[in-house]
Amino acid sequence: MMNEKKHSSSAFQTTISLLLFWLLMSALLILLVSWLISGQHLAAYLVFNGLLFLVILFFAVMVLVSLFTFFRIWYNKTVPKQMLQCTKASLNWIYPLLKIAGKLMKKDKDDVRKAFTLLNNRLMMSESKKYKGQDILLLTPHCLQKAHCSIKVTNDIELCQECGVCNVGDLKYLQRTYGVRCDVVTGGTLARRRIKEKKPKLIIAVACERDLVSGLMDIKNIPVYAIINDRPEGPCYNTVVQKEEVENTIKHFMTR
Ligand code: SF4
Repeated sequence: MMNEKKHSSSAFQTTISLLLFWLLMSALLILLVSWLISGQHLAAYLVFNGLLFLVILFFAVMVLVSLFTFFRIWYNKTVPKQMLQCTKASLNWIYPLLKIAGKLMKKDKDDVRKAFTLLNNRLMMSESKKYKGQDILLLTPHCLQKAHCSIKVTNDIELCQECGVCNVGDLKYLQRTYGVRCDVVTGGTLARRRIKEKKPKLIIAVACERDLVSGLMDIKNIPVYAIINDRPEGPCYNTVVQKEEVENTIKHFMTR
């Protein structure tokens, strides 16, 4: 969890400020609609504004619930199951809102994505769901393998010689130790194919912020825990993941 801790603080601030931004926007819109309704306008205007008011109210309540849930989870407090469900259901439309707010507030795109993955992870951690090793699929990007290594691990990570130079050897260790299934994939298409073939009940995905968010938005029926990789040599080249973070995540979700 070292990597997560490193990103947590700024991601937390980003999430809170973005959610508060939308809350404020909703409140302003509600005030505007109320003003329009109280003015001397046509009846049709009333109906239109009334409907608009309900829609905005719905979104404001969802944001409030999400904000409340996020605070509770952050401080390790229990959250009523219905609220968790409500926040989980809101995740798909919360991201576009965070994105727009981030743009308006000139936030770095990766910070917004990081905040979203953190919110997703915290929600998942707060649930007490456990899985068998064979039901967990660890999906990692091809760039985790050292560029000079000629072994084709995308077919089978068992081919890795565990020379200790890159994280692929660690994946092999995790597969052997916990019975999880690991796949090194070259992109979204191969990842989707592996998910279809292996039918996991939980996915632990390692990737950059952009790929993780697109995976989270894409995969609807399987919970995905997202781990951001380190890119000491730039994007998509000799990337690294903290073995301890992946191992601790596996341990958290596995049945004992
Ligand atoms: S750990 Fe495995 S994949 Fe990585 S460089 Fe060594 S042999 Fe190649």
